[in-house]
Amino acid sequence: MLSTMTVKSFDATDHARIAELGQGVLRGEPISREEGRWLFDLGDTADVFDLLSWANRIREHFKGNKIHLCSIVNVKAGGCSENCRFCAQSVLYQTDSPRYGLIEPDAVLAAADEAKANGVTGLGLVAAWRGLEEGPVLDEICQRFEELKRSGKARPDASLGIIKDQKVADRLRQAGVECYNHNLESSRRFYPQVCSSHTYEDRVQTIGHLKHAGIKICSGGIIGMGETREDRCDLAFSLRELGANVVPINILNPVPGTPFANVEPLAPLEILQTIACFRFILPRQEIMIAGGRTVNLRDMQSMIFLAGASALMVGNYLTTLNQPVEKDLQMLKDLGLDPNWDKHGFSDQEPCGCNPGHEMACASS
Ligand code: SF4
Repeated sequence: MLSTMTVKSFDATDHARIAELGQGVLRGEPISREEGRWLFDLGDTADVFDLLSWANRIREHFKGNKIHLCSIVNVKAGGCSENCRFCAQSVLYQTDSPRYGLIEPDAVLAAADEAKANGVTGLGLVAAWRGLEEGPVLDEICQRFEELKRSGKARPDASLGIIKDQKVADRLRQAGVECYNHNLESSRRFYPQVCSSHTYEDRVQTIGHLKHAGIKICSGGIIGMGETREDRCDLAFSLRELGANVVPINILNPVPGTPFANVEPLAPLEILQTIACFRFILPRQEIMIAGGRTVNLRDMQSMIFLAGASALMVGNYLTTLNQPVEKDLQMLKDLGLDPNWDKHGFSDQEPCGCNPGHEMACASS
């Protein structure tokens, strides 16, 4: 009896080209933008699985089996003046997101206790506002960082929006901030579709001030907002030029009441392909999977590591829920991965070679 099953022809050329690019990355050769575009445009499922497999090798080569865990605490929530269209904390949108002013020091230390108990390295203090200027709020925030640093419970990290004054970045560094999250969100081309109350350039300049202060840069973006694959590719290359140390990839979790509430979700395989392409372009950086992973990837979550992710945001996000930390830790154990990142700091990363203060991120809720 004749089978009615269609057998797809195997494209050995694409298979060989993915392997060739993967071997080049392992040898330390940066891939070009044209090569990056080609990887983002791969459309055949078998090719995408080849890509994931090579991304996994690249992760293992540069990062071993260590996984960096971070968590966040919202030190001031809701009522933000900005209009980021994905964000439940903007004052412009009707959402159920909570609102409160600066939290008390004890609440930060309680979050640090929880982070430590879960083996989390970095605790990011995140605030919903446009940015930070000199004044009493900066003084209070700096006190929180000093207390966190003194406690020795977690690495003091921050995500406090736009900084226009070098002195503010310097104050944060003196107070103990080691790593600051400020996402580019998307490509420069797509950015006006995401936010119009501040510019891409404001974000680039903020990162320049932070780098100049000696603060490590955590910068990435959100995928699934309606951007093209080319936009995702451009984002990855901008982050490479910028010299980001940690690259968080958020996947849009549309919040009712926000302008992006009805955006069609990305297919899980396209999300994994994006992570893998980022690993090819940013082989030594921490690629952290943050907001939206549980809802968008469902039972394919553990495949983020096969796709090249080396870091994970654990605990709840700013306005959406994550799966319990215990479940994440069990997932890492089952995969033979080690969440102990202490001995595996930022020092293995190549210098970006750019000029501090002249390079080209906010809390991605
Ligand atoms: S992402 Fe940040 S700056 Fe933008 S609206 Fe939300 S809290 Fe405000």
